[in-house]
Amino acid sequence: MKIVVLKFGGTSVGTIEKIKNVANLISLYKKKYKVIVVTSAMSRVTNNLISKSKKISDNFSDQEYDVLVSSGEQVACSLIAGRLIHKGFKSRSWLAWQIPIITDDLHKNAKIREINKIKIIKYLKTGGIPIIAGFQGMTREGKISTIGRGGSDASAIMLAKFFKAERCVIYTDVEGVFTTDPNKFSKAKKIREISYEEMLEMASLGAKVMQPVSIQDARLNRINIEVKSSFVKKSGTLITKRTNIINNKIITGISSTQNDAKVTLVGVKDKPGVAASIFKPLSKNLVNVDMVVQNISANGKETDLTFTIKKEDLSKTKKIILENRNINFRDLIFDKEVSKISIIGVGMITTPGVTFRMFQTLANKRINIQVISTSEIKISVLIDKKNIKKALTALHKEFKLDK
Ligand code: ADP
Ligand code: ASP
Ligand code: MG
Repeated sequence: MKIVVLKFGGTSVGTIEKIKNVANLISLYKKKYKVIVVTSAMSRVTNNLISKSKKISDNFSDQEYDVLVSSGEQVACSLIAGRLIHKGFKSRSWLAWQIPIITDDLHKNAKIREINKIKIIKYLKTGGIPIIAGFQGMTREGKISTIGRGGSDASAIMLAKFFKAERCVIYTDVEGVFTTDPNKFSKAKKIREISYEEMLEMASLGAKVMQPVSIQDARLNRINIEVKSSFVKKSGTLITKRTNIINNKIITGISSTQNDAKVTLVGVKDKPGVAASIFKPLSKNLVNVDMVVQNISANGKETDLTFTIKKEDLSKTKKIILENRNINFRDLIFDKEVSKISIIGVGMITTPGVTFRMFQTLANKRINIQVISTSEIKISVLIDKKNIKKALTALHKEFKLDK
């Protein structure tokens, strides 16, 4: 049985017309494959549901959050199934608990552990097209769970894994993965092939086109992902293992984020253990510290410690630091007007001087670098938010991504 998994994102099913278009697309695959469809909620629906929960309580229950926000996918999958039935196909919507798709019990951010194949296989054998609600699962105790924002990408990958699909196609509103967000930068170019490692960095550093967890799942299970547009018939991007790719570029892509905030503790007493005493309570309270820099001040007795967190964790972080009796500092400064811009590419492993080129390019544009962090295949810098477009344009050109 040759199986294809097709995933449609929120924008691909955002209107009735788009859902009709999706049904046409699905029918084209039916000739060659047993088709399993995964869908997100219609665009904006999940955001609307979340904002309702916030109006009910600023501490809305995680379990009820999952029941609430998973409802968006139920609407979309029944509309697609309904349209396919209208066109004369055998189709049916499947909610996660009906299959079931089993997750762990970490509500809001659960992980798919197992997918029971029996009912779906039986259904496929009768010629049916199952339209599965993405993003949702069921815990072992029978509670509804969801698997994190953008999670229907991960639903698709896990379905491809458990059903040993021959292909897994992610349909979205852009033609594939681009060197940088094509909706923000018109010179962005479509990438034909990209490695899991690069895609994971790009996604984690702000490229919304794929959810990071889904790329980790794909990499672990060696699932090739095709990313394509549901609106135009053009080849997309293949996400695959590194050895499958011939690429002569040093940098594959550039990502940027909008949701970082910078925290600086000025005049911290410089003694062993001080950084640990600041970061331990943060990690205990699930505040993720990203970039860190520490300067020794002139007298050698005090230091300034700067780090970045997600904006949404700002008030929590402030409270934790101010209540922490183990640290002394002179001043506490918060800055929300920052952005992290990152260049990503496996090519930098074998090419010396990439860091220098990045810093020089920014210096030439008089853009000040506030914090730096690097890994084997990426360099991230924190800059003033107002410079982000200028930095992106210069770096895109410097690393010849325009071509
Ligand atoms: P879907 O609803 O299909 O899941 P998303 O909105 O989650 O779609 O992701 C698609 C969006 O990702 C695009 O509209 C684009 O603006 C954004 N995006 C950000 N970075 C990139 C990139 N490097 N390549 C392609 N798209 C990107
Ligand atoms: N509808 C969910 C969200 O908006 C899942 C997804 O789109 O993949 O996060
Ligand atoms: Mg998405």
